[in-house]
Amino acid sequence: MLTRNQIKSALKENDIRIRKRLGQNFLVNRKIQEKIVDALGISKGDTVIEIGPGLGALTGELTKRAKRVIAIEKDRRLYDFLLKKRSMDDPGNLELIHGDILKHRFDCRESRKLKVVGNLPYYISSPILIRLLTERRCVDTIFITVQKEFAERLVARASSKAYGAITCFVQFYSKPSFLFTIERSSFYPVPKVDSCFLRIDIYNDGLYLTDEEKLFKIIRACFGKRRKKILNSLYSSNEFASKEEVLEKLEIAGIAPERRPETVSLEEFVKLTNSV
Ligand code: SAM
Repeated sequence: MLTRNQIKSALKENDIRIRKRLGQNFLVNRKIQEKIVDALGISKGDTVIEIGPGLGALTGELTKRAKRVIAIEKDRRLYDFLLKKRSMDDPGNLELIHGDILKHRFDCRESRKLKVVGNLPYYISSPILIRLLTERRCVDTIFITVQKEFAERLVARASSKAYGAITCFVQFYSKPSFLFTIERSSFYPVPKVDSCFLRIDIYNDGLYLTDEEKLFKIIRACFGKRRKKILNSLYSSNEFASKEEVLEKLEIAGIAPERRPETVSLEEFVKLTNSV
């Protein structure tokens, strides 16, 4: 892993400018690098996808432990830098892809499901996670570094300030767990906020649900008006024909109509959807 000064020299020598727009903050803390790679529990048969390898802070360690590493980098100049590095010291199991993780097609033909890791570019953490959960058939576990505030939203419980639509989406498909905090000084350039490293385990069998699309329509409608009573949020969502119908479905789901959406648990939202 490169130190702060080595990064500065490498950027200069290769005529690379840091692109804030692509969320480029490079890891410079070796202890954190070790903690991240250890947390993955990689075994020799694993294929690992790395999102945004940057200057390769994690990539080298990953190739030492996994069968195969597929690293996807959007910035052409960083991709070229990694290609050059690989040509000098080829580990033999590193596939570099110049591309956008949001457009990447996951390959489900691997005998084992994929482990995905990344110190995510903060500007698109949420779309990346949604994409990974959409590709969940191919993915086993996700390990990501995200901004602390975003991490809090993912692991939140009902009735807390951080609880919202993204909490429900992520917790419907997976179990996110907080592993450790990463101070902002662990990156160069130093970002404005601290980060957290999370482990996200995809569920094989989730909650029983009749209509996934409806569940998330209802959740989004409710959190769009989280201070209103759930009766009114649901009624204005256009998913129900009348207030009487909303009242009836809320009763079946065991949710009092005067409750605020932010106090309703994911399990209750699922019950409500199944009653519709
Ligand atoms: N993994 C490196 C590290 O820890 O030092 C870099 C982390 S940096 C926070 C995020 C990386 O993601 C950058 O290299 C950036 O160019 C890359 N990136 C940004 N948007 C991307 C996208 N849509 N697809 C793939 N990589 C992306």
